[in-house]
Amino acid sequence: MNITMIGTGYVGLVSGACFSEFGWNVTCLDRDADKIAALEDGQIPIYEPGLEPLVARNVKAGRLHFTTELKTAVRHADAVFLAVGTPSDPHGRADLSFIHAAADELADALEGFTVIVTKSTVPVGTGREIARRIRARRPELDFEIASNPEFLREGAAVEDFLRPDRVILGVEGERAAELLQTLYRPLALLQKPMVITGLETAEVIKYAANAFLATKITFINEIADLCEKVGGNVQDVARGMGLDGRIGPKFLHAGPGFGGSCFPKDTRALVQTGQDAGAQQHIVEAVVAVNEARKAAMADKVAEACGGALSGKTIGLLGVTFKPNTDDVRESTALDLVPALQQAGATVQAFDPVGMDNAKPLLPDVAWQEDAYATLEGADALVLLTEWNEFRGLDLARVKHLLAQPVVVDLRNVYTPQEMNAAGLDYYSVGRPPMR
Ligand code: NAD
Repeated sequence: MNITMIGTGYVGLVSGACFSEFGWNVTCLDRDADKIAALEDGQIPIYEPGLEPLVARNVKAGRLHFTTELKTAVRHADAVFLAVGTPSDPHGRADLSFIHAAADELADALEGFTVIVTKSTVPVGTGREIARRIRARRPELDFEIASNPEFLREGAAVEDFLRPDRVILGVEGERAAELLQTLYRPLALLQKPMVITGLETAEVIKYAANAFLATKITFINEIADLCEKVGGNVQDVARGMGLDGRIGPKFLHAGPGFGGSCFPKDTRALVQTGQDAGAQQHIVEAVVAVNEARKAAMADKVAEACGGALSGKTIGLLGVTFKPNTDDVRESTALDLVPALQQAGATVQAFDPVGMDNAKPLLPDVAWQEDAYATLEGADALVLLTEWNEFRGLDLARVKHLLAQPVVVDLRNVYTPQEMNAAGLDYYSVGRPPMR
């Protein structure tokens, strides 16, 4: 079976490498010639645990190829996956220009029967629109359209692709259904469910799933605010809730608001889709608004910990990626928090294990440091923003010694108030009483 991935980013590269691991012959295509040249040179353009050996192994076995040449990449393809970006447009809708451009290029290049699959997250109706565009350009072309949304998480992407909770296949015709089931057959041993639906349903499933997870996070964040006011402990509340099998413990970690390359844009897009369709998504609208306000409020939280004002203060920031184990900083809370701190008069010095290269152009006035401890030197407060493993076991005596003021703002609730207090540090976290 020959598969082509159009778009070799976080999703396209991981999916392509994993399909080749299943034994299929995969070509990953991107229009970014530097990215393809790097991959051909054995370099992985993103940070994703486990990806490098997976790519190397399958390239060596002759099952994984990289190219910028569309015509040769799709000529013998049984299935072509669209894995290009679908960022927000200025109104919050999904910008489908990459998808449409790729579909048009594909229409001009295809030969013989092909299944065209959207792996990108696309609003409901997009699959049908792609089919219409392709038919308009090439009325004689034999193809079927399908939707196979991706649920992998950055930072655990390889594992998620190889062991998914489920595979969603939105199909129109028999041939696409059969081909996609064959493609994913290697997962049969794991007994992972395949949900086979129509195109529209598959497209809605992806947005509904992401919006639900974003809602869960936002819900516990508001409960954390309540805990702060009334003297509760949100971690105990989350545990007490999550042990209920109907609720479950995941995505109940209070924090600084969700960021990343998916939840913010996908919740905004779902809001727009609902409005366009005349089925307003009130809950998701509230989630978007509450989360935006929360991200904006984090600088005030830091100011409060610093005695009310940030002017002239130095903040030592640990972590700028939107979560650990990725170099992705798209819509990371750091992109809201750092400028807000600076605007309030603070100087920010920061460190992230792998995210600094991506963050530097977006956060130009930060003093970037070599490691966590250098970041704390002379700072009036330590702000822990991303819970990388290496920030979970800091030597607290050293932290106290390095800081100019013994103030820690832990926006991920990594530490306990007791251990911080024992180390002589004033400790502010999320949804738990401060310890001074
Ligand atoms: P990305 O920006 O990392 O990768 C997209 C790639 O597509 C880029 O390398 C770009 O150069 C390439 N591209 C754009 N137009 C092209 C064209 N016409 N021909 C060839 N290449 C082209 O994006 P991503 O994070 O991999 O996300 C891709 C899609 O998958 C999005 O719709 C996203 O919502 C969805 N998704 C992402 C994740 C995630 O965790 N990143 C998870 C699930 C779903």
